[in-house]
Amino acid sequence: MKQFLPFATLAIFLATGTRADEPDTSAVPVRHRLSDCHLHLVDFLQRTEGARAVLAAMDRAGVDETMISGMPLVKEWSQREHQQPQYYLDDDGRCYWYSATDVLVQREISALPEADRRRFHPFICGFNGADRNAVDHVKRMIEWYPNFWEGIGEVMTRHDDLTALTYGDPPHADWDTLDPIYDLAAKNDLPVSVHSDISSVWKRQPIYLDEMENAIRKHPETRFIWCHAGISRRIVVPTLTDDLRRLLTAHANVSIDVSWVLFDAYLIKDGKPDEKWIALIEEFPDRFLVGSDKVGKFGDYPHEVQRYYRILDALKPETARKVGRDNFLALLPKRVREARR
Ligand SMILES: [Zn+2]
Repeated sequence: MKQFLPFATLAIFLATGTRADEPDTSAVPVRHRLSDCHLHLVDFLQRTEGARAVLAAMDRAGVDETMISGMPLVKEWSQREHQQPQYYLDDDGRCYWYSATDVLVQREISALPEADRRRFHPFICGFNGADRNAVDHVKRMIEWYPNFWEGIGEVMTRHDDLTALTYGDPPHADWDTLDPIYDLAAKNDLPVSVHSDISSVWKRQPIYLDEMENAIRKHPETRFIWCHAGISRRIVVPTLTDDLRRLLTAHANVSIDVSWVLFDAYLIKDGKPDEKWIALIEEFPDRFLVGSDKVGKFGDYPHEVQRYYRILDALKPETARKVGRDNFLALLPKRVREARR
């Protein structure tokens, strides 16, 4: 059947050259200076538009500084598949661990002039945390590129479809195999960001919360960032704000990254900032961080980070400044924080 554009869509298309159902990539005037706690230089094929494209996107969006990591997994293009997959969900092909991702980040960032380089905070992520030897890779990266790395992560543990598509048995956040990495992070004053789903796509209780909490409890000297508060696509946990309140009260060494699907699925309710979330953030103004979780492509980056203006506008100005910018920077190693002054 032939498809016709609805009249309103057609009018917008003629006026702007874009379809109304395409994401709006234009930046709005900057009203909050931001730092981004979660950004992947490369995608699941280890491809990138490059650090210059990230910088241009940051400039358009009013983002001063960003965490930057590679992607610890790469999507295999299997002989069974005729089309090259671009994303891990594109087909049934598997994913495998790819340590060279850290070298890609190091090469790209260290090639920048000093003033640009200082806007990036590079994290080591290219290891399989289910391997007791994984810490050797982290040590090697620190040895090869001294004073370059400012954190570890995104450590991939439970991740719904990605877990199912990855060869082998991906780690859980509290496995012993990760202990040496968490300890090394504390010893080197590096924060650790961890992706660890809080539940399955079927249950509505936080059945895996204990895995993240065990890791946090076992390593009180390690500063953890919990990526998207344990939420992935299709994970629905109605008690999430209460669970986070309890976790944040019990443990001082964890911050919550509110990036990615958390925004639409939780932070915004009926088109407005969810009051339960605003109250929780105000209760713990030092513990929440804004992130984009972009992977490799940065055309819609301004939209992806500036949508947080809706949350920041609903907070007290001082809380908004902390959540939008200062809280992430406060987690960086002391040597980095002191050099920034
Ligand atoms: Zn991510």
